[in-house]
Amino acid sequence: MIGVDELKNQIAKRIQDYVNHDNPMATRTVISIGLDKAVGHVLASQVVASFDVPRQNLSAMDGFAFGVRSRLDNNARLEIIGESCAGVPFVGQILPNQGVRIFTGAVVPDGCDTVVMQENTDFETIKRTLDKHQAYHITLTKPAKIGANIRHQGEEIQQDELLLSPNKRLTPSDISLLASMGVEQIKVFKPLVVGLIATGDELVAIGEPLAHLAQIYNSNTPTLKALLARLPIVLHDYGIIKDDLQATTDGIKRAIDECDVIISSAGVSVGDYDFLTQAVDKLGKINHYKVAMKPGKPFVFGEFKRTDGQVVLYFGLPGNPLSTVVGCLNFVRPALWQMVGADVPTTLRLNAKTTHTIHKNAGRKEYQRGFFEQKADGELVVTPAVAQDSHRIKQLAYANCLIVLDENNTGVAVGSEVVIEPFDWTFG
Ligand code: AMP
Ligand code: MG
Repeated sequence: MIGVDELKNQIAKRIQDYVNHDNPMATRTVISIGLDKAVGHVLASQVVASFDVPRQNLSAMDGFAFGVRSRLDNNARLEIIGESCAGVPFVGQILPNQGVRIFTGAVVPDGCDTVVMQENTDFETIKRTLDKHQAYHITLTKPAKIGANIRHQGEEIQQDELLLSPNKRLTPSDISLLASMGVEQIKVFKPLVVGLIATGDELVAIGEPLAHLAQIYNSNTPTLKALLARLPIVLHDYGIIKDDLQATTDGIKRAIDECDVIISSAGVSVGDYDFLTQAVDKLGKINHYKVAMKPGKPFVFGEFKRTDGQVVLYFGLPGNPLSTVVGCLNFVRPALWQMVGADVPTTLRLNAKTTHTIHKNAGRKEYQRGFFEQKADGELVVTPAVAQDSHRIKQLAYANCLIVLDENNTGVAVGSEVVIEPFDWTFG
């Protein structure tokens, strides 16, 4: 049986080929979208600055801008002849020992080389008696430095500078940068179409009544949709397929025609009513089946070739809700990020002390559910969920991390360190 890390590598290798050779059309088609919809999409072209930032010399403070060769020593008395506000610059000539009242973000007038913050003048004491329409004098209460408190033109960004490179997953901070450049439309890769299939005679779609006690709701499809919500993909929900080889084959065939990737849940074990592997084997090929992982051993990675030559990748997750979640987090989500052309987001791994003994048998890599907390002194502690069976949805809802235990681990004593992977949604 293949190990978790090895399977991750194999999937990554296959996808690299898929993206570059098998399917550049699906994965590398470029579309243009509005900036307000761009977060989470993957940039398809570089972005260069269309102008300098700041566009002119700006004041970094509320205070006064002084002409070149002005006195800047303590007690210097200087004449203020006007105002430069954000968006409304001062117009006029400024001589040595003259200046203007200036505000943060306002243009430093030509002929000025220094801004002195208001707090380093006697402005507070004289302001009540001032007539703003007349020139007035202020006195420095601290010596100032030539060139101080000015954000110089092009200091942060220079025109034509490379700002963002292709394959960048657009974050809120990228949107901020693009918006500051006035970018309205941006080129990103076309979202992949991902098909979701649930299988099982016991399943009922949400919204329908549970007609008898043997029925349960299809919780895996909404779970997968939530786990994949931040990816730039279009989801096709194929609903629930019955435990029947013909129905399963037909359902998958339809998805092959319409999707770039297919994700199914359940029906991949060795039960008499598990038809997924048979159907996939018939319609395409299984690259890997079963991984040394708990929960989620009967994981399938396969592929199909459409008549038009396009390769469609397939991930078959086991039906137990926790197996679905762990399989999706470990294999499917990183694979999809890779397929959409982005750097795969890092999984945060931390060390934490366990508050309870952890039981485990050697053999498979285990992902147990836990709740981690940071104590006042900064130490991380983790409490394993009381039950670790792969059907326990409530335990998952109460957890905020997975406790990762390597294949050869045979249990952990109270107070020992373990590796945890916090769920990314824990951080908002
Ligand atoms: P299977 O992989 O088909 O043997 O299913 C394993 C377990 O997962 C069974 O208890 C199923 O009832 C359950 N299960 C399968 N599919 C779903 C689903 N979509 N939502 C919730 N539970 C499921
Ligand atoms: Mg089943």
